[in-house]
Amino acid sequence: MRALTYHGPFDIRVESIPDPQPFDAEGAIVAVRACGICGSDLHIYEGHGFSADLGFCVGHEAVGEVVAVGAAVSRFGVGDSVLVSASVGCNACGPCRAGYVLGCERGRSGCYGLGAVLPGSQAEFVSVPAADGNLVLIPDGVSDDAALVLTDNAPTAWYGARRARIEPGDVVAVIGLGPVGIMSVLASQIMGASRVLAIDLVDERRAAAAALGAEPVDGDPRLAVREMTGGRGANVVLEAVGADATIDLAMKIAARGARVSVVGVNQSNAFPVHMALAQFKELEFSIGLCSVQRELPTLLALTQSGRLHPEVVVTHHLPLSEGPAAYERFHARADGVGKIVLDPSR
Ligand code: NAD
Ligand code: ZN
Repeated sequence: MRALTYHGPFDIRVESIPDPQPFDAEGAIVAVRACGICGSDLHIYEGHGFSADLGFCVGHEAVGEVVAVGAAVSRFGVGDSVLVSASVGCNACGPCRAGYVLGCERGRSGCYGLGAVLPGSQAEFVSVPAADGNLVLIPDGVSDDAALVLTDNAPTAWYGARRARIEPGDVVAVIGLGPVGIMSVLASQIMGASRVLAIDLVDERRAAAAALGAEPVDGDPRLAVREMTGGRGANVVLEAVGADATIDLAMKIAARGARVSVVGVNQSNAFPVHMALAQFKELEFSIGLCSVQRELPTLLALTQSGRLHPEVVVTHHLPLSEGPAAYERFHARADGVGKIVLDPSR
């Protein structure tokens, strides 16, 4: 099959690799109709990824059709239209049964395409372990673009916003307006934020957030947020970048008693916390990885009822064969690029 593979920093290739086989009787094979490039893939692209492996198939966002199921798969059959949850669990232990796959008690928590262990889905086919727990039927009325954003970006944003316990009337600042940040803007609005202040280095991304009802923060965000909030700061800060500078900024633009919630993946393990500032402000700080399965029931319902439009982050549809150029474009954040959706049939 045709697949995108990682060969070192800034070296993504279109290659022909063997078709994946089911992991075991609980596994399934999905023919991918559409797959997305995520900000987490950019960490790999930049060479500070999640493993030292080379040559593996990348990607963890996919929707498609089930083409094979193992004998122990009971909830899915050939022909089902599914979204492949980016996070993976065992589907047998208590936490996984409850959708909390990050807490898998059998050590099977994972994500596709971060290394060779669980090959990715930027390909014609993807092998799904414990399919009953890691696939979700795409309900009527949910488009492939929406379903693709529901595999990872929308649940991540919802999870971050949920952990910040956004309440009606909160003034929320979102730092980073890639697909995860834009979804964080929408999540904040649905949860009742009175104002959403949108921060990013890229003008077009601030404009995209403004078009959805957020207030773009122009200039130095510390000064601007202070000015925009009468000196108080934001009650809630959602960080969707994954860098020391932006976690630091989150604490600095936070109001007294604010909740700071981080979903950006930061590979730096030596982040200096400004202890006095955090303590003086009585900040609540949360950080984590999203268990997609736990967030999806709510998000599918919101999407089906028309309250949430995850597809708004999609800006480009390109053939998988143009994958390397697509990575370059998403990385450059130029020309209004947001979520890029790849078509493995082309
Ligand atoms: P992205 O790269 O498109 O978005 C990041 C945005 O941050 C960009 O728009 C960029 O311009 C902006 N940015 C960078 N430095 C900045 C700065 N100093 N100040 C303000 N803005 C700045 O990526 P994405 O797909 O939206 O993903 C965002 C993050 O979420 C990534 O770190 C990704 O790894 C992470 N992520 C986490 C989870 C999870 O479960 N926790 C899941 C998916 C993605
Ligand atoms: Zn992702």
